[in-house]
Amino acid sequence: MKKYTRIFQGTAFSSKSPKEVNILKDYLFCINEDGMIEKVAGPEDEAYQELLGTYSGEANFHRLAEGQYFLPGFVDLHVHAPQWAQSGTALDLPLYDWLNTYTFPLESKFSDLQFAENVYQDLVSTLLANGTTTALYFATIHKEASLLLAEICAKKGQRGLIGKVVMDDPEQNPIDYRDENTDQAIKDTEEFILAVKELAEQVKQGVYPVVTPRFIPSCTDNALKGLGELAAKYDTHVQSHCSESDWAHGSVRERFDKNDAFALNDFGLLRDKSVMAHCNFLSDDDVDLFAETGTAISHCPISNAYFANSVIPIAHFHEKGVEIGLGSDVSGGFSPSLFDNARQAVMSSRMLEDGVNPNLPSEGRGVPSSRITINQAFYFATAGGGESLSLPIGRLEENYVWDVQVIDTNIASAKLPIFNKEEDLLDIFQKIMYLVRPENIREVWVQGDLVHSR
Ligand SMILES: [Zn+2]
Repeated sequence: MKKYTRIFQGTAFSSKSPKEVNILKDYLFCINEDGMIEKVAGPEDEAYQELLGTYSGEANFHRLAEGQYFLPGFVDLHVHAPQWAQSGTALDLPLYDWLNTYTFPLESKFSDLQFAENVYQDLVSTLLANGTTTALYFATIHKEASLLLAEICAKKGQRGLIGKVVMDDPEQNPIDYRDENTDQAIKDTEEFILAVKELAEQVKQGVYPVVTPRFIPSCTDNALKGLGELAAKYDTHVQSHCSESDWAHGSVRERFDKNDAFALNDFGLLRDKSVMAHCNFLSDDDVDLFAETGTAISHCPISNAYFANSVIPIAHFHEKGVEIGLGSDVSGGFSPSLFDNARQAVMSSRMLEDGVNPNLPSEGRGVPSSRITINQAFYFATAGGGESLSLPIGRLEENYVWDVQVIDTNIASAKLPIFNKEEDLLDIFQKIMYLVRPENIREVWVQGDLVHSR
């Protein structure tokens, strides 16, 4: 019989489709030395008993206790790593003021590598403890501190996709927090890409460089063009913000007389491995362009409630065939948990569907067919995130990586209300999605290795 590195036995939840969750009751997951799921076997499968006979009782056999379940690790498609240091503050300001009075002064401090190290170590550990096994990060404009974030992800076992932020326009950015000039911004980005690619050669779970114009309003045309060329030259991921708020959307329209999506595409920034944050104000033509180019939307529901001036019609966009994942948008979103964001994604969609102004008649109050279910929010947090990044992550299936969170519903301090031993497993899944707290996340595995336990 084939030698597997580890075998896990337990009940798992994984998306079958955007709206359906697959329940894998008491399954075996066989993991190879690369950390991939090489074989999945259910109790009815031929190999099941033989596998059990060979492996149970061995040191590499892991069986979940009663009340424990496997979920795929979460994929967070939008995190501003430096902003962890201000999470939860200043959320009463509008976006423009929030950036200029809080965020840019904070981010400028990351020229200090010791400060960067303190914040980044804490953030990566916190995200892992919240079940996030892959994160797409904006760092800051500083090449060295951005590389430090990649090294910390590598060491702690998280799959990190990291961007050195570009914001080069002297008219639009504060004097003490912007790239020195356009050429330097492109040169630093290229050196950063090469350094992360070199680091990646030693990292089992992978770290990836990401071309990262902060957003169109902070970049010159030449920088946007140069970044598009770098993304093509090195076939990297790309991330930015797109049509986030009235102000951001409007300022791009004013500058180019077209929507953000088409402007980004003109610079070669919409590609299969592109992920654009927010995207609240996409038109149907913008959405079609996303679908054609393979560009994904990072939906950041908590942040949107503060800064986006609207609820994104996420069900409509998904129906049109765009890849969608979830983003915490720390710290525009205060919570580092994708459980919290999945909950908010459902609640916001319900408010869009029903409408929010009680003075309007019910027929004209909302936007019909806008709601998503918790199953869909789970899909966005897992499989949808994986598709957005074009990586084999987010599903508990053969040929996907073993990135999982072990959820314990029996923790004394955070016990889930399960009183019936025969309770329907889909009901348990929903309780997990709505009620889990970090205490319930007992173990987190990335690429076959344990990276967090409590
Ligand atoms: Zn953002």
